[in-house]
Amino acid sequence: MSEDQAERRLQAIMAASPVAMQVFAADGRPVLVNSAWEKMWGVSLSWLQEVGYNVLQDQELDQLGVKEEVRRAFRGEVRVVGPLLYDRRRESGGQIQGQLQLRTTLYPVFDQQQQVREVVVMHEDMRAEAFAQSVIAAEVDGIAVCHGVCQPPYVHFTVWNPAMQRLTGYTLSEINRLGWYQTVYVDPEVQEKARQRMERMRCGDHLQAESWTITRKDGQKRIVEISTVEVVAEDIHSVMAVMRDVTEQRMAERALEEARQAAERASQAKSEFLALMSHEIRTPINIMIGMSDLLQETAVNARQKELLARLQGAGNHLIIMVNQILDLSRLETDRLRLETKAVALRVLLAEVMEPFQDIAAAKRLSLQYEIHADVPPWLMVDGLRLRQILSNLLDNAIKFTDRGGVWLRVGTDQDGSKLLLQVEDSGIGIAKGDLHRIFDYFTQVDSSYTRHYGGVGLGLALVRRLAERMEGSIEVESRIGQGSCFRLWLPLQAAEMPVQNRCNAGREGALSILLVEDMVENQELIRIFLQGSGHRLQVVADGLQAYERVLAGGIELVLMDVQMPVMDGYEATRRIRRWEQEQGQQRLPIITLTAHALEGEETRSQQAGCDLYLTKPIRKKRLLEVINQYAVHHPLAR
Ligand code: ADP
Repeated sequence: MSEDQAERRLQAIMAASPVAMQVFAADGRPVLVNSAWEKMWGVSLSWLQEVGYNVLQDQELDQLGVKEEVRRAFRGEVRVVGPLLYDRRRESGGQIQGQLQLRTTLYPVFDQQQQVREVVVMHEDMRAEAFAQSVIAAEVDGIAVCHGVCQPPYVHFTVWNPAMQRLTGYTLSEINRLGWYQTVYVDPEVQEKARQRMERMRCGDHLQAESWTITRKDGQKRIVEISTVEVVAEDIHSVMAVMRDVTEQRMAERALEEARQAAERASQAKSEFLALMSHEIRTPINIMIGMSDLLQETAVNARQKELLARLQGAGNHLIIMVNQILDLSRLETDRLRLETKAVALRVLLAEVMEPFQDIAAAKRLSLQYEIHADVPPWLMVDGLRLRQILSNLLDNAIKFTDRGGVWLRVGTDQDGSKLLLQVEDSGIGIAKGDLHRIFDYFTQVDSSYTRHYGGVGLGLALVRRLAERMEGSIEVESRIGQGSCFRLWLPLQAAEMPVQNRCNAGREGALSILLVEDMVENQELIRIFLQGSGHRLQVVADGLQAYERVLAGGIELVLMDVQMPVMDGYEATRRIRRWEQEQGQQRLPIITLTAHALEGEETRSQQAGCDLYLTKPIRKKRLLEVINQYAVHHPLAR
């Protein structure tokens, strides 16, 4: 082959090569470059020749310590240099255009006299590999790769980065010698689970941040999160595992969860304590209110009457507060259950308004309500909670109004999906800046009013939480000196009138009543209430005695306490109902008397078979009204 031919062949090979190549003459000047080289460096051979480039005089290469290698190549040695970082320059002005990371091989080409005639330079771009290496060496996650198909439980790793070694304590050769499964999963059960997991992985079900407990070389247990992914490169299948130590994180989560559970238990204990306390507090207050009711019926003078009224006022206030605290604690612990059922809204509103009429009249305020014709007569709603919200709003409206009046307006929104209840007053109003905080706990706009108007700032907090619990909302609009308007929105769901299955025996005149009550004070109270009513009262102290007494015959109505020793009121009622059915007896009216205004209580009493439900404090007037419903020809019967 002629020299010319050889030259052309070399040029053809260089042109086809994806490897950047350059040829220097013996004096260090470039004589040949290929297009891969031109692309890599951004300069052409002609430009190099124009500027008179000479590799043996390159200052930069000298600084990098490469020139010595170049000289050795020119002296006849094959040299491999790098990988090293080089500045990439462009022809124009020679400014730096990024960097190259190259491994360079220098081949001397000899002539027949064994003199170096040329030096061929080949550059391998190491950026991708360097990047992969730096990822693997990164001190964040453990990275391990096993090439080829893993055959559980034998896994052979080819990559094991320093983080992996730090996490497990094992070097690559150790882990391959001792076996991954056999060392890090010490517990045989975990080992088996891991082996099965590995089998599933072989079928393509890869780990995605799964938590495993591994045992380090030093015996320490660590919780790690492992993800695996299959990598296919140049027809070789590998599995790459990324492992992260999450022990501290999991411990913190566990501690947090334990703290949360402890807080929940404490809060539960607190609300149970509150429920118990409020029950304990309510019972004596009820007796006090009942007794003062009775005292008022005796010959008292005007002064005594006034004092008794104050006593009752204070007692009622206390009961309301105890109930509010109890409800709030239930709402906070999410233990307040709603009892949504068909409610006759007009009746409910009339009943809610009734006690406020006297209070408003005493302040010379007008108190009116109107219901839009669109509002259906029966609605699905929790009547107890709706009463509570409206009572709170009406109470405030009257409390903070000295002139004018209070209006309750009930309507619907345009598409009839929401019920709107507005309580409007012409009272002192609320400053704009205070509007946002009146629904917070223990918030009162001005403490000087508190002394004047009373209250502790719980009412509206309860109202808002109840409204939200009922999937509704509450908003307020107010102007200082002009009045306030509270708007309560509730979901509107019309209901059918329920089939009344109430037993209304319709008995004659005075009734023979059985009071089932274990507390002597309460027995005494009811006995006194019924004095002069004409009804005859018998008293037993527990459910079992009540059941036996009913079976003995002659009882026409039962007043049944719930919590009693031996047998509670619901169990006694259930037994009585069962006996009535078995014997074909007429249904006896049973009225529950309970100290709890608890949600669910009414349903429980109905389920047990009770006809009516009265909450303590039992008021004489209400008790007689209820009893007299069952005595149709009684003079007091309505
Ligand atoms: P309180 O039992 O003290 O009245 P609330 O939570 O019911 O507590 O009300 C919080 C505060 O909001 C009241 O103390 C009062 O300052 C203000 N407020 C509530 N309703 C009205 C109203 N209708 N007019 C003026 N201020 C009101």
